[in-house]
Amino acid sequence: MNKQYKQALIILTLLVSVPVIVFAVYEYSSITREEKLVAEVYETQLNSILFSVNLYSEDIISSWQIKLMNRNEPADDPKTLNEFLKENPSIKLLYTFDPESDQTTIQYDGSGKSIDETKAIIDSILKNNTLKISKLFDYLKSGYRKAEPVNDTLNSDLTHILFASVDGMKKLITGISIDPKQFINKTLEPRLQVIAQEKLVISIFNKRTGEKVYSNFPGEKGEARNDKILWLLPGYEMAIKPLNTTIEDIAKKRKQENLIITGALALLLSAGAIFLLKNIRKEIRLSEIKSEFVSNVSHELRTPLSLINMFAETLSLGRVKSDEKKQEYYEIIGRETERLSAIVNKILNFSQMESGKRKYKFEEVDMNELVEKIYDSYKFHLKNKGFEVTFEKEENLPLIQADHGAISEAVINLLDNGIKYSKDKKELSIRTGKDGKYLFVSVADKGIGISTEDKKKIFEKFFRVSSDNVHNTKGTGLGLSIVKEIAAAHDGIVEVESNPGKGSTFTLKFMMKENKQNV
Ligand code: ADP
Repeated sequence: MNKQYKQALIILTLLVSVPVIVFAVYEYSSITREEKLVAEVYETQLNSILFSVNLYSEDIISSWQIKLMNRNEPADDPKTLNEFLKENPSIKLLYTFDPESDQTTIQYDGSGKSIDETKAIIDSILKNNTLKISKLFDYLKSGYRKAEPVNDTLNSDLTHILFASVDGMKKLITGISIDPKQFINKTLEPRLQVIAQEKLVISIFNKRTGEKVYSNFPGEKGEARNDKILWLLPGYEMAIKPLNTTIEDIAKKRKQENLIITGALALLLSAGAIFLLKNIRKEIRLSEIKSEFVSNVSHELRTPLSLINMFAETLSLGRVKSDEKKQEYYEIIGRETERLSAIVNKILNFSQMESGKRKYKFEEVDMNELVEKIYDSYKFHLKNKGFEVTFEKEENLPLIQADHGAISEAVINLLDNGIKYSKDKKELSIRTGKDGKYLFVSVADKGIGISTEDKKKIFEKFFRVSSDNVHNTKGTGLGLSIVKEIAAAHDGIVEVESNPGKGSTFTLKFMMKENKQNV
């Protein structure tokens, strides 16, 4: 791996992985924070709901208290009492207790228990709560009417409330026992519905048995049990959750969303890094190829220049006596000058192409005529180099719209390569013909051939196959990229078939006129 590329790889890996890791860690910690926050929000909400429910229960008890303390009604008047009990069906037991005479009067018993059982329950309440009872009188003395929820020791399914009153000099305790389930489902229910507003699920559980005694959405599952106890109903606890989901689900969903975003970001950054790396690799390769190109070109220029220099010097020193030799040297100088200008032209053409400035002059071109001209001018030169050349043409080829000079340049480039990359078997064959909707001209050699892997690259600018055979051959790596460009400018293609060691055939194909119109 190239050193520069390695450096770029390390820097990019760091550039991608560090922010992704930092972001992931930050996201993860913020997820936990958010989870806590969500839980806190629900905790606060639960507290305020509880506060509201407790306040409501207190209001109800206080209204009962007022009604029962007014001795004219309903306690003393059976009709009013009956109405009061009917309005509040959760009241199962109503009694008064006179601490001075230790007298208990049961005013109403709807508990369904035997009289002895009821008495035992009341007894247990009064006996176990003497402190609370005396405190209730203290409150009353200070002008504060307080009701106090109390327990019995018999584990009855009722919830008990006591409050104190004074009638003249007579101190009295009133006890109310209610059925908590009925109280929750009949009395508290409307209030809970208002609080929940179709957005929350509020459920109440029996703390001891775990039984769900109330829920505004009984079908909903998964509410978090909470040890928030209702003031009036110490045996019951309340839980809330958002409707159709749970707090865990909300946190989980957020976690998933954040994970997806982090993953997508990491992917995006990696894709960007891969893209960048590819470009960097391309640029590095291009810069390597370019420096190779400079040395190749210098090498190409140096040979004709030194030949020209040498023969011109010999001639100018007047050392050559025979006219024949002089003629031969002039010819060499001329040929090498031509070679020089061919190289320079190639580079100029290429740079024009690169900058998109190359203009093509399209005219009707007879391909046979064009190739024949090249063949004629190359024949002698090729024979001198020991090549056997054949030209096979298909007669009556249609004319094509093309730039005569550019097509000639492309064919000459292919011929030059055929010459350059032939070793012992110096055979070249040029063919013209039709292939489907295309008109073609091909140049085949029996030279060194090209491997399948290199075949994909030879049309790239500056590319030269890096094997010993080729390095011995001069070249710029521009010839085939110019051929490809010229073919493309004519809506044509260039193809190559090659077997390493056996030879190559390059074919230039141009669409024929009648087919072009149909496209
Ligand atoms: P160059 O100036 O190197 O010939 P080209 O663009 O014409 O540049 O060719 C690119 C490379 O393709 C050559 O360096 C050579 O390796 C390979 N190549 C081109 N033509 C032939 C051929 N006829 N036979 C074998 N190899 C060839």
